[in-house]
Amino acid sequence: MECVFCRILKGELPKHEVAGRERCVAFLDINPATRGHTLVVPKRHVERLSELSEDEAAEVLRLAGEVAEACVSRLGAAGVNFWINQGKVAGQVVPHLHLHVVPRYAEGEIRVEMHQKQAEQGELERVAQELRKGLE
Ligand code: 5GP
Ligand code: ZN
Repeated sequence: MECVFCRILKGELPKHEVAGRERCVAFLDINPATRGHTLVVPKRHVERLSELSEDEAAEVLRLAGEVAEACVSRLGAAGVNFWINQGKVAGQVVPHLHLHVVPRYAEGEIRVEMHQKQAEQGELERVAQELRKGLE
């Protein structure tokens, strides 16, 4: 079965478009967390952030910032969350990379619970070392 966002981008399924750019499109999420919840979607089907070209990544991020400004100026948002779910375990349901732009109007509308705890210095250094190897 074809990806739902590819079908939307081809015009096979409807969308409420907010803006279109050369390499990406912004349209409203069909199940908005708040009024104006928008998805910024690269036109090329990729699943992960690292698969975007520099030009695509720049355009997606730029458009997300512009949508956020419109949420503030036109919808009266007081702040905005930007987020990407990557991988099933992280909550990615549609396997076509997308950046959520979620305007915020009041505190407590959405709760993202991270349960952070202080870590030991040794553990932090082991993790940093491991990641540095992956980024060489
Ligand atoms: P994910 O959990 O993959 O980060 O988010 C997928 C998002 O896509 C969800 O917030 C969901 O509401 C939205 N979505 C799923 N199907 C459609 C659709 O057909 N049209 C639109 N506009 N949004 C969709
Ligand atoms: Zn797709």
